[in-house]
Amino acid sequence: MFNRRATCVSEVLFGVMAALLVTDVSLAAGARQGALVVVGGGQLTDEIVDRFAELAGGRDARLVVIPTASSDSRIPDAVAVAELWRERGIDNTILLHTRDPEQADADAFVAPLRDATAVWIGGGQQSRLAAAYVGTKIQSELQALLKRGGVIGGTSAGAAIQSGVMIESGNPVPKITRGLDLLPNTIIDQHFLQRSRMNRLFHAVSQHPHRMGIGIDESTAVIVTDNRAKVVGASYVTVVTVPESGRPLEICNVGNGGEFELADGTAHPQPRKWAIVVHGGAGTVSKDASAETVQAWRDGLRAALEKGKSIVAAGGTSLDAVEATIRILEDNSLFNAGKGAVFNSAGEHELDSSIMDGRTLDGGAVAGVITVKNPIGLARRVMDKTRHVLLAGPGAEQFATEQNVDRVENAYFSTERRRESWNRVREREANKPVSRISTARPWQYGTVGCVVLDSHGNLAAGTSTGGLTNKKFGRVGDSPILGAGTYADNETCAVSATGTGEQFIRHTVAAQISQLMRHRSWTLKQSAEYVLHERLNKGDGGVIAVDLHGNIVWVYTSPGMFRAAADSSGRFDIRIRDEK
Ligand code: ASP
Repeated sequence: MFNRRATCVSEVLFGVMAALLVTDVSLAAGARQGALVVVGGGQLTDEIVDRFAELAGGRDARLVVIPTASSDSRIPDAVAVAELWRERGIDNTILLHTRDPEQADADAFVAPLRDATAVWIGGGQQSRLAAAYVGTKIQSELQALLKRGGVIGGTSAGAAIQSGVMIESGNPVPKITRGLDLLPNTIIDQHFLQRSRMNRLFHAVSQHPHRMGIGIDESTAVIVTDNRAKVVGASYVTVVTVPESGRPLEICNVGNGGEFELADGTAHPQPRKWAIVVHGGAGTVSKDASAETVQAWRDGLRAALEKGKSIVAAGGTSLDAVEATIRILEDNSLFNAGKGAVFNSAGEHELDSSIMDGRTLDGGAVAGVITVKNPIGLARRVMDKTRHVLLAGPGAEQFATEQNVDRVENAYFSTERRRESWNRVREREANKPVSRISTARPWQYGTVGCVVLDSHGNLAAGTSTGGLTNKKFGRVGDSPILGAGTYADNETCAVSATGTGEQFIRHTVAAQISQLMRHRSWTLKQSAEYVLHERLNKGDGGVIAVDLHGNIVWVYTSPGMFRAAADSSGRFDIRIRDEK
């Protein structure tokens, strides 16, 4: 809740029809060990300097000054910055600087940070800081310093770099890249009122509606301790949020001495929620299936879910959990992925798979592989070991050889059950005009997928399939197409689909769900239900999804969907039929 000094305005997009209105933005508080001093540039006031020196530990402080945002010709001026802190009694002050990310990743280089109580990041251009330090050991050491109770301060570029979604340049349309993510779930802007940067922050927050925009004017600081942000200085801080339900933006100006609460998990990201969802294809077992058959499907889902859960509950990554979960399903002959894959029109098996990392938007996929035992593992290697996203057919097979992954004869994937259903489908489709075949589809269930939010806040998604029974030789479905059958974006959600692949490709189903969250600020449930019920045809299939907060959703228009979910609140849930 904002205190009385915070004036709040609710604004209908981009400042045109602003109406004054006092609002309560209630955001849950968490605990924090470290502190941040985020300064909007300009002259540093005595109060800001004193507060930083005090948080740093006063005379006992061990301070590292990072001048990397400066141009080469101005780096020597950084010595003067170090001098400023010495004047304030922090004698133990050293400079740390490189332009080379490889050096920034070297243990010897980051060693001073391990011993520091405080870091000061000077101004200049934030792109220089990002190019040298994002994704390196400098970033993890800064996060470690906060965790053990240290303080990080920065001004101008040294303020901008502290958010994860960083405004690099541009006004009114911002160019956005990645920052150091020291104050998660925020977008920080600086020189805010002086340089009229309202519009670019509104743009940035509209595109990243789950982040709080914090526009800090010159000679003004936001001091973050214990999940509360206090404003100190000569001017104002403008806080911009998108309420859960969508527009309008809420805008609050906070002056000297004013405070505001950060979103839950902003100042203290650990421990986070985790969640995992698995699917084993659209459709369901027939009404008169034996209890053993139903149990076998449930056991298959349970084994996969338990594997993924064990990884993510122990703090493992979403990517590792997705890959391991799908491998279990690929090795289970009940499912239409890996062993047990359906037959194509040539009586063979061609497998498709993909995996996507919501943190980086990197992805890897393979299509039409015929001897790769676990296609999801090869998809992961496409992501990790090549500069490409999708390898198909003979090229993918050759890559499998280079990577030395497990290989099998194509007949390894065959099962009697799938052969019988291939024969049935062939008979049924034999006399139909080609145009009618794909829609007159009985449920050839068993495609598998998994989506995970890990305890580090990273989303990932993966899907693996043998495709549709009797599919034309060379046909590729939605499962290996990022945006169609698989999608993950840390800012929104992770999705894995199953059903008539052609429909999921036409409607870019997985990406569309994410885009509705991003651009319309819809919830995951609203977005998934809209796409499945309003855009697709009844019977096309379903999706599983998890959003950045750990909300789990499954939506399908097929008769049932094999699905299971677990999360950090103790949920462990396996379903096959239409039970809610
Ligand atoms: N979507 C998959 C495909 O079209 C099949 C399925 O999910 O059942 O290849």
